Amino acid sequence: MNIAALLLKSSRSFGERPALALGNSVTSNYRDTSKRVAVLAGSIRGVIGLFPGDRVAIAMKNCPEFSDIMFATWHAGCAAVPMNAKLHEKEFTYLLKHSGTKVCFVTEDLEPKIKIAIESLDEQPDIISVSGNQYQRLLEANPIEIAELDPNALAWLFYTSGTTGKPKGAMLTHRNLLMMTVSYFADVDPVDEFDNILHAAPMSHGSGIYILPFVAKGACQIIPESGGFDPSEVLTIFEQYNNVSCFFAPTMVKRLIEVQKNAGADTSGLKTIIYGGGPMYVEDSLNALEVLGPKLVQIYGQGEAPMTITALSRAAHLDTKHPSYLSRLASVGKSRTDVEIQVADAEDRPLDIGNVGEVLVRGDVVMKGYWQNPEATVQTLRGGWLHTGDMGSLDEHGYLTLKDRSKDVIISGGSNIYPREVEEILLRHKAVMEVSVIGRSHPDWGEEVVAFIVPDEGTPPEEKELDRLCLKNIARFKRPKKYYFIKALPKNNYGKVLKTELRQELEDVGIFKK
Ligand code: AMP
Repeated sequence: MNIAALLLKSSRSFGERPALALGNSVTSNYRDTSKRVAVLAGSIRGVIGLFPGDRVAIAMKNCPEFSDIMFATWHAGCAAVPMNAKLHEKEFTYLLKHSGTKVCFVTEDLEPKIKIAIESLDEQPDIISVSGNQYQRLLEANPIEIAELDPNALAWLFYTSGTTGKPKGAMLTHRNLLMMTVSYFADVDPVDEFDNILHAAPMSHGSGIYILPFVAKGACQIIPESGGFDPSEVLTIFEQYNNVSCFFAPTMVKRLIEVQKNAGADTSGLKTIIYGGGPMYVEDSLNALEVLGPKLVQIYGQGEAPMTITALSRAAHLDTKHPSYLSRLASVGKSRTDVEIQVADAEDRPLDIGNVGEVLVRGDVVMKGYWQNPEATVQTLRGGWLHTGDMGSLDEHGYLTLKDRSKDVIISGGSNIYPREVEEILLRHKAVMEVSVIGRSHPDWGEEVVAFIVPDEGTPPEEKELDRLCLKNIARFKRPKKYYFIKALPKNNYGKVLKTELRQELEDVGIFKK
């Protein structure tokens, strides 16, 4: 099997239907898209010279070519490595090296960064800009037949960050992606050729997951002209199209609602906002329901089980008379049709209803393992269950409520920030003895990064120097927005820093407040 067959099938059934649109103009129908993809696949094999299983990296902001390159990569039997467009050069270097990528497709804006990123690599991948002549020439090659693959062949290396701070590549197979696709129809929404998916969140992550169910049913993918999330532009698209669905992080939903409250746009063209990727506060869900109507479905997942662990249905959002309505709204819903979940203690023993433990997941949507990281694979998939690192509890009707993100991920403006990564950079400063990074709630971004620093004896480091250190090594959005210099970090008996205490100080007591 090959997941790219979904595009071929749609081109047969819906050849003349729009497949891709930029803003309000359709750029390609299904027949042309499918032909272009077969040609591009021919170039990936014949011109660039890749073999099945080789990795193709994508460093691109959202654009119609993104989807073409994903499908062409699969059609050719290769694996896609989409990378977040906001990463730092050094982070790109790591991902390109770790994935052993042979070619990297870029949008013009990211070309200079990727050129710097590959400078230090012994084996440098080709860089191909989708707005350059080389790309145009790739579209003139001979088409090839779709590669016949084992269902367990690698399709998508989904890079996430581990607790060690180094990103880990979740190996998603063609079977994983097919299960994820079918699960969308089972638990989120039915889709047909008159639907549209709007990609305002990054296609390298959250929004990219939704390419597949919509292509499978001959729907159109709309890419905003800005290539990103601009609430006013999103509202205009709701006015221009019908049956628009989109994936948004909770903070994006919140910002959209704020703008819509004043704009009063006609949102009848919006079908569904699928939200997830971070906690959504009940107050915000109620607000969104009031402003947009019955258009919300929540999903919970992670790269390792691509956004397919639980769903809180549209019906659950509307069941206001139910005695558990508000607690259900605070939950992430019930396990997906193709997934089993279990809440377990530290020894992997299942816990009773109501008890908090780690959320474990089993099913055909769960990744094959981590790319070139057998230790992490064994640890994360032990006993045949995916250990999500998320803590939660189940109620008697199967609703899962997440209590805390055990991995302490900070989610700022819809992007995940792993504290350890920031901590490691700050620790490079000679005047920093110890450091702990946490998220502090922020009205616009969901959370913002703050750092607690125990200075080495003598003078504390200059904040400006710490900023400079971060900017040199990690993406700008990961840099702490505030530094607190303290005498000692709170720790437990095992010497582990108690981040919950730091958060408590920050939120309740406020002794560290500005
Ligand atoms: P990533 O693999 O980078 O997409 O991050 C996945 C993590 O985001 C999960 O392990 C959860 O901690 C968090 N997450 C995803 N969806 C939700 C949700 N609906 N509510 C709360 N947290 C979520």
